[in-house]
Amino acid sequence: MWFCKVRMFFSTVFSTICHCLACKKSTGSAFSPILGILKTDLNIDRTKLKKYESLGDSGNPIYRHFCENCGTTIYGEMSTRPNVVFLKVGTLHDSSWFKPQINTYWEQHSSWINEINEAPKCEGMPKGN
Ligand SMILES: [Zn+2]
Repeated sequence: MWFCKVRMFFSTVFSTICHCLACKKSTGSAFSPILGILKTDLNIDRTKLKKYESLGDSGNPIYRHFCENCGTTIYGEMSTRPNVVFLKVGTLHDSSWFKPQINTYWEQHSSWINEINEAPKCEGMPKGN
């Protein structure tokens, strides 16, 4: 199994947890932690990336760049913000320092995410069936 992990140096423009339906579907998760960084700071090998185009709320194109090997979404772009890329925090080698400034698209959040901390916790997968 191979998953993309990104190592890079950048300055953060913004940080968010995005709860929009498009982020949920593209990540297969309840939300997507995102760092907005300058496009000029994005210095990665793009030869293995594929691009998926869809329309954002504004009707303008948005692009999701993902690894052709493992399918991991690495970053997104919006045509309306050409100088910024939306880096998926889960692709960073170390994201322990990440601190979201805001929850975007909160009106689309999954109602059960507030209960995550209440669910029992275990190391790895539970034992047994
Ligand atoms: Zn989103």
